[in-house]
Amino acid sequence: MFKKILVANRGEIALRIQRACRELGIKAVMVYSEADREAKYVKLAEEAVCIGPAPSAQSYLNMPAIISAAEVTDAEAIHPGYGFLSENADFAERVEKSGFQFIGPTPESIRIMGDKVSAKQAMIRAGVPCVPGSEGELPDDPVLIKRIAKSIGYPVIIKAAGGGGGRGMRVVHTEAALVNAVAMTKAEAGAAFGNPAVYMEKFLQNPRHVEIQILADKHKNAVYLGERDCSMQRRHQKVLEESPAPGINRKLIERIGERCVAACKKIGYRGAGTFEFLYEDGEFYFIEMNTRVQVEHPVTEMVTGIDIVKTQIMVAAGEKLPFTQRQIEVRGHAIECRVNAEDPYKFIPSPGRVTMWHAPGGPGVRVDSHVYTNYFVPPNYDSMVGKIIVHGDTREQAMARMRTALAETVVEGINTNIPLHRELMVDAKFMDGGTNIHYLEHWLEQHKR
Ligand code: ADP
Repeated sequence: MFKKILVANRGEIALRIQRACRELGIKAVMVYSEADREAKYVKLAEEAVCIGPAPSAQSYLNMPAIISAAEVTDAEAIHPGYGFLSENADFAERVEKSGFQFIGPTPESIRIMGDKVSAKQAMIRAGVPCVPGSEGELPDDPVLIKRIAKSIGYPVIIKAAGGGGGRGMRVVHTEAALVNAVAMTKAEAGAAFGNPAVYMEKFLQNPRHVEIQILADKHKNAVYLGERDCSMQRRHQKVLEESPAPGINRKLIERIGERCVAACKKIGYRGAGTFEFLYEDGEFYFIEMNTRVQVEHPVTEMVTGIDIVKTQIMVAAGEKLPFTQRQIEVRGHAIECRVNAEDPYKFIPSPGRVTMWHAPGGPGVRVDSHVYTNYFVPPNYDSMVGKIIVHGDTREQAMARMRTALAETVVEGINTNIPLHRELMVDAKFMDGGTNIHYLEHWLEQHKR
C-alpha cells in the first residue's frame, strides 16, 4: 500500500480523500491555492503545499506545480478527485511518466472515453446499448447528413465528440434546419474543445438520467454497484441524486450492470467509473462514461456499504477488489442534496464569509463538506459547498430523514439552495418518484419568484 498520496483537488472531495487516506493509514499531502489557505483539510493536513494563486489555471490546473508538489513531498500517488485534471489524459500520462501512480484509469482509457465518438464505438463493440445515431463522426456531405438523420428519425441531437459539461449540443427538429445546425455545432466545437468532430443521435424526448457505478482492479476483476438516478437537473447540472432509481426493474439493472462490467473488462478499465445512460420507456441508452469518482458517489456508498474512494486507492496500489459481484447488496434507499452557495431560485452565486454553519446529524445522515463557521467561500470556484446524504430502509424513510436533516441545517452569511431542496422534498411528483430530466426546469418555471 502507498505511504503517501497527494490530493490534487479542493473542497469537499479533497476532505473526502483525506479521510479515506487516514483510514487506510496513508499520509495525505494536500495542495491548495492562495484562496484556499483557510480550508478545513489544509488546517487538518500533516503536509500541505501552496501551488499557486486563486485562478484554477494557475493552481488546480497547473500540472507542473502539482507534479513538483508530489516530488518535494515524496508522495507515491496522485488522486485527482473530480473536475479539474481528473479526466485529462495528458495529466495522467505526465503523472505516470514522472514516476507516480495516477489514481484512476490508464491514460488510454481516459482518452477513449473522453472522445464521445470513440467511447460510443467501444460501448457498441462491448454490447452496451447506445442511443441510435450516426456510426461515428458525421461526414461533410449534406446529402449524407440528411440521409443519416432521416434513418434515425427527427428530432435528432448534434453533439460534439469532445464536448462536456452540457456544452456542444444542438437539437434539430426538421430537415430544413439540419445542415446549418451541423455547421454551427462543428464551428463551436472546434473553438471550444479544439476538436470540430460532431456526431448525431436520436433526441430522446422525456428520458431519465440513470447511471451505473463500476469498480475495477488491475487483475481483470470488475463489479457494478447498482445505479443512481440523477434526473433532477438544472441546465444539465445535477441538483440531487438517489439510489436505487425508483420503479426500474431490478433484472433490467442487472443486465445493464453486467454489460458495463463486460465493457470494463474488454477495455482493460481500472479504478472507479460511471456509465451514464438515458432511460426511456423501459430501455437504457448509453451516453457517456466518466472515468473518475463522481460528486454523487456517496448515495452508492450508503446503499452498498462500500467505500468507493478507499477502493480506488487500494486498486491503484495493485490490490484485488476485496469483494465479488455476489457479495454486493443494495440495501434501502439513499438521497443526496448538493448544497450550493447560490440564490435558491435565481441561482446567482453567493460566495463570502459563512457566519454560522450548523450541519444536521442523527441516524442515517452523512454530511460531506469542508465548510465551518467563519469559513470564507472563495468566489473563484464551483459553488458547491457540501452534500447532505441520508439513508433509510425505504425511499419514504429516506425522504423523511432528508426533510429532518434540511430542517436542522443552518447556514448564515451566504445564500444556499437549501430552501429549494426543502420544497423539492415535499413535492408530490418527486415524492412519487421517476421524474424525468426536464422536471426540475419545468418546476422552476412554475415556481418563479
Ligand atoms: P456532457 O458530457 O456535456 O454532460 P452528455 O452526453 O452527458 O454531455 O449529455 C448531457 C445531457 O444532455 C444529458 O444528461 C441529457 O440531458 C442531454 N442529452 C444528451 N444526449 C441526448 C439525447 N440523445 N437525447 C436527449 N437528451 C440528450
